[in-house]
Amino acid sequence: MISGLIEACRAAIAAHADHLCELDSAIGDGDHGTNMRRGCEAVSADGHALADLPLPDALERIGMLLVMNIGGAAGPLYGTLLIELGRQLRTGGDAAAFAPVLERAIDAVARRGRAKAGDKTLLDVLYPVHAALAGRSALTEIAERAEHSAHDTAPMRAMRGRAAYLGDRSIGHVDPGASSCALLTTAICRYLGEYRPA
Ligand code: ADP
Ligand code: MG
Repeated sequence: MISGLIEACRAAIAAHADHLCELDSAIGDGDHGTNMRRGCEAVSADGHALADLPLPDALERIGMLLVMNIGGAAGPLYGTLLIELGRQLRTGGDAAAFAPVLERAIDAVARRGRAKAGDKTLLDVLYPVHAALAGRSALTEIAERAEHSAHDTAPMRAMRGRAAYLGDRSIGHVDPGASSCALLTTAICRYLGEYRPA
């Protein structure tokens, strides 16, 4: 399953990398799509080794690869998310009750970025995705929530990252990190919805 998830994420980012760069050009330095594509390709290239690992170890290893290969601001944040998911699952978190595990991992991302909900970052997708999951929404609803939440970053004023330097001029643009997070959420939900164990 993990190989399929990795491929679904890689393909989604590859298909939208140019758009993510355009979003980042408006309120950042234009590299978010390139950064995310590089990170996803590094994870894909490691796919065989990852498929042999227990889930917590695989998630942590993916996190390290994301830190090293996405770079920029987003690398350590996506990396923290995956590393914490792995750690939480190893230390007693229950994959069947995933919402609390995800919540703790998102909180680690917030601490790492010193950011909170409403700061116009990828957290503005992660928190609503967690809320939908905790409310036992269907996969299609979780994906829709992610997409809407990414769009809802447009009227926000960026408080963290490069976009924060723009102040009010960041208003009116969708946050690139929120957009990549929605793309990944949708890819994961779609894959899980179609997944049938062999
Ligand atoms: P960089 O800004 O270094 O070029 P990217 O363009 O790859 O990095 O990523 C930018 C995205 O990272 C932003 O759109 C935002 O969602 C996210 N981001 C940046 N700084 C923070 C932060 N401190 N906390 C949370 N998310 C952040
Ligand atoms: Mg950038």
